[in-house]
Amino acid sequence: MSLTPQLIARMTEWRRHMHRFPECGFNLPLTADFIAEKLESFGIEVTRHIGQQGIVGVLRFGKGDASIGLRADMDALFIHEGNEFEHRSRHDGQMHACGHDGHSAMLLGAASYLAETKDFNGTVHFIFQPDEEHGQGAQAMIDDGLFERFRIDAIYGLHNMPGLPEGQFMVRPGSLMASESSFEIVIKGVGGHAAMPHRGIDPIVVGSQIILGLQTIVSRNLSAIEETAVVSATEFVTNGTVNVIPSEVTIKGDCRCFTEDSLKRIEACMERIVSGICQAAGAHYSFTFVNTFYPTVNSPLQTEHATRAAIAVLGSDNVEANCLPLTISEDFSSMLRIKPGCYALLGNGVESVGGCALHNPEYDFNDHILKHGAQYWVQLVRDQLK
Ligand SMILES: [Zn+2]
Ligand SMILES: [Zn+2]
Repeated sequence: MSLTPQLIARMTEWRRHMHRFPECGFNLPLTADFIAEKLESFGIEVTRHIGQQGIVGVLRFGKGDASIGLRADMDALFIHEGNEFEHRSRHDGQMHACGHDGHSAMLLGAASYLAETKDFNGTVHFIFQPDEEHGQGAQAMIDDGLFERFRIDAIYGLHNMPGLPEGQFMVRPGSLMASESSFEIVIKGVGGHAAMPHRGIDPIVVGSQIILGLQTIVSRNLSAIEETAVVSATEFVTNGTVNVIPSEVTIKGDCRCFTEDSLKRIEACMERIVSGICQAAGAHYSFTFVNTFYPTVNSPLQTEHATRAAIAVLGSDNVEANCLPLTISEDFSSMLRIKPGCYALLGNGVESVGGCALHNPEYDFNDHILKHGAQYWVQLVRDQLK
């Protein structure tokens, strides 16, 4: 299968159009209008406002029962673009610095091709989600009935990867990307004169013991083989001054891990350590643990399907089927908690065009990989909906 030069040129135009007019979070009226109009122009049935600006395009062909969901993200970042090329952002302070413009264009390209060739048997769902960057969009679509209103057997997602050569593909079964969580511990002691600590309860001493206690979570509570994780305390703020023992200390920090089991254990260990140390000192505390992104965990069978489709379009030399996990996070993880599926990475290039890091003001999605992404989607649909 090969895409026509005309379709590749149209995808490039769509991608650059979305790059010129980036929008962030859930507030994507122009982007959502643009994508919905394109899908409708291909003859695809479009449902809008699932999870605010989320879109699902449905394309049925043949009598087959099988169905598949292909997901792209549409949102940009609050970054002032540093590029000077013609398609640079026209929205000051907003920029497609993660390549979601490219993800949307690749999925539109596949939708256009499949709507025209009708070379499959079953139902394809083209899912365009808002607010990936803050980790809210996938869950908002799910809460709005994504998987009840549409019967989707399995779900797939794709992200570009700067530093990986153009058109190379990386995936792994199981945990591909980390969770992202934050915590806040407020220790309430009894403040007082620095010369008379015995008259108070010093929350700095309590907080210091807690910081050291947190270091035992990864080293003493998680399996060294199976549970890679990071727990970092990053802020320690007191209300004291040079001759005053503070009454309160706030500790904040960040955690990453690769399974929901580890995630639950880290939270429980943390609370146990905080509560035990505070009790020993006679201090009070409050503890909050907020999970923003779950670990991204690929299903083994769907990862095999994804790998096979990638090999068919890119060649086996360009496909790494068992890559190392990455410590970045992705809210497609919320969809993978409900449906079997696979998230994969497509090389954006190593040279100046595609090598610049994600979320950098000089980043740009590499238009040369639009065809690879669209071909991968088409191949996956043809393989799965026979
Ligand atoms: Zn991003
Ligand atoms: Zn991204």
